[in-house]
Order: sequence, then C-alpha cells, then structure tokens
Amino acid sequence: MSEENGPQAATAAVWGGEEGVRIAGATQVPVVHSVAFGYDDLDHWRDVALGRADGHIYSRNTNPTVRAFEEKIRLLEGAEAATSFSTGMAAISATLFALLAPGERVVSVKDTYGGTNRLFLDYLPRFGIEVALCETGDQAGIVAAIDAGCKLVYLETPTNPTCKILDIELLARHAKAQGATVVVDNTFATPINQSPLALGADLVVHSATKYLGGHADALGGALCGAAGLVAKVFAYREVNGAALHADAAYLLLRGMKTLALRVERQSANAMAVARFLDAHPRVERVFYPGLPSHPNHAVAARQMRAFGGMLSFQLVGGFEAVKAFLPRLRFAHRAANLGAVETTVAPPRTGSHVELTEQERAAMGIPEALVRYSAGIEDVRDLVADLEQALAVGS
Ligand SMILES: *Cc1c(COP(=O)(O)O)cnc(C)c1O
Repeated sequence: MSEENGPQAATAAVWGGEEGVRIAGATQVPVVHSVAFGYDDLDHWRDVALGRADGHIYSRNTNPTVRAFEEKIRLLEGAEAATSFSTGMAAISATLFALLAPGERVVSVKDTYGGTNRLFLDYLPRFGIEVALCETGDQAGIVAAIDAGCKLVYLETPTNPTCKILDIELLARHAKAQGATVVVDNTFATPINQSPLALGADLVVHSATKYLGGHADALGGALCGAAGLVAKVFAYREVNGAALHADAAYLLLRGMKTLALRVERQSANAMAVARFLDAHPRVERVFYPGLPSHPNHAVAARQMRAFGGMLSFQLVGGFEAVKAFLPRLRFAHRAANLGAVETTVAPPRTGSHVELTEQERAAMGIPEALVRYSAGIEDVRDLVADLEQALAVGS
C-alpha cells in the first residue's frame, strides 16, 4: 500500500506514475519506442547523462513509458525508489548478483520459485557465495541460519505451490541484527494484500508477468525499496541489459489500473474455492493460508490484508485422478502462468517442479496428486460448479 499521506492503493493503481508522461493532452501514457533521446544543447545532454537533470538518454537505461511503470509500482509498494526489468527472473538475478560478493552468505528457503532456486543452487556458489537454504516450514531453523550471520536474507511468501507462509516481520528483525539486507518476492501476495517494506524488508521483487499485468500477455519484473540499494541494482541492470520494453511497460501499466479490483475478486474467489474443496470427499487436502486449518494461518492473517488468489489441493487417487480431472475443467487454462484474469491450473508434477524426481517432490512436501489453482475473476458460482462436475468424474 502507499505512504500514509499518499493515495490509497486502488487510487495509486489507477493514477500513479502517469503525470508528466502524457503528451498533447492525451489522457493515457504514450508508448515511447524511441531507442535514444536527442539534445541540441550539449551542456543539457551532459547534465541528463550525469543524472543532474531530468530526462532520458537511451532506452536500455531509462524510457518514459517504462518510468511510468516504475513509478506506479513504487507508489503501490510505498517505496523510496523502484526500477524495472524484462522479466521477474531478471529482477531477482540482478538483485542477487548486484548485492552479493564472494565470501558472503545468503539465507533463504527451499520453496522459492524454481528459477530462484536454480540461482541459489547452480550459479551463486560458482562465484564463491555461500547459500543456506532452510526448510520453509521450520521457522526456528531459518532464525538460527540468519543468526549465524549473513549478508542477505531472501524470502518468498506465500510460496509456490503449497502456500507456506513466512513471518516477514520476525525474520526481518533477526536479519537486521546481523546487518543483512532483506529481499521479499511479493509476486503471489501483490502490494494489494501485503506490504513487505512496512514489515521491515529492505527490497521487494516482483514478477510483473503475473498479478501486476494480470492478463498473461506481457513479461516484466520490478524491484522496489531503499534508494541506495535500488540504485546499486539499477547500475548493474544498465550493463546487464535486461531492460523492460516500452510495449510491455504499456501493457503492464494498463493491467495495473485494475490491480486492486482483480486481486480483491481473486482473493474472494480463492477463499470460496478453498472452502468448497476442503469439504469435498475427493479432495485429500487443501493448501490455502485463508483456511483456519493452515499451519501459518495466524501469521498470514497478521501480515496479509487478504489471503490471495493462489491455492493448491491434493486429489484422492494419485496422479491418475489429476489426469482425469484437469481436462474436464471448462473455465480454466491448463498452463504454467498464474495471476491472470482467467483461472489457471497446473500440476506441479508436470509444471513448476517437472525436473524433480518423485522423491525430491515428496521431500519438498509436494504430493504427486497436487493441483495448483490460480483463481481468476470469473463468477465464483461458475468456478465452483466447474470444479464440482470435474471432480464427479468416474463416480
Ligand atoms: C513467475 C515467478 C517468478 C519469475 O518471473 P518471470 O517473470 O517469469 O521471470 C518469480 N517469482 C515468482 C513467485 C513467480 O511466480
């Protein structure tokens, strides 16, 4: 949510960041395709290049349409500064590579997004960075790993696909005592449901591809937080080159206008779907932080304004049951993305965790018959009826 004296989140989503970019009275932000920006006055050009005057030089570094996107997400996260990236993974990898150096230690959890997990396991160690990945459900273990000393604490909550919850405020307090930087991936919760910076985090990363854009038609990433840290990562992105394109920035800006509306509806739909599934005899178990039976329900209720649009559930009957059930859904894409206006379903066994063995998935607490469910903005009566008929298969 935005700063106390700034507009509320739903207002910032609509109006934020758009002033000063509109041209010729246009009410909408223009898509500026220009690669470069020209200056007749060489002194002015130099001042812009050195950051002493406002303006743009080259679109790999800054661009007016992209700037509007950065400003909108900055307001929504209540951050001092924000920058953007071509994808969520570009945001996450740039943040880790820009802020960590050989000999330093990062503490995170085993349940981070698949690409993030690969960075931790395959890439950071190559550069002499020590990575401690804790059991996501073991809060005492995470605290002990932080207390042992670290440069950066990387959190993601709720997690994918079993919706585990990390206590941001508590872990940030321990991180602060070590002088560590706290980064939170806020993709699942969105700034509508969770404000990590207000809970003590230093930086928030986003896959804008998901809820921020909300229409599954543009890739993007964002980083928000303290100006000094964001500037460090921005300097790296300027040379790493993973800049957000103006076309994608426009689609994300347009999608973000309805962010509050969509996320409120998606959260309400997910809650109703979770309750329905929880009572269904063909469902073994439901993972949703909004259910009082969820092990971290109390923490989620404290740090989230609503419990979000993501849930997962385990079917009775193993993976064969999933294979029979998924094709029967009428109002759901069977696809790898999430956070879109359409309901989207995916089994981690063939989607996000396809490269792991059954044993590895079991070790992560991911049952073979799990279905990840990203609630869309449809009428929830249709979603529930659709699940009901699909679950009735073979009975
Ligand atoms: C999708 C996702 C990412 C990666 O984002 P891309 O835009 O696909 O690169 C990172 N974190 C989470 C939680 C995600 O869901």
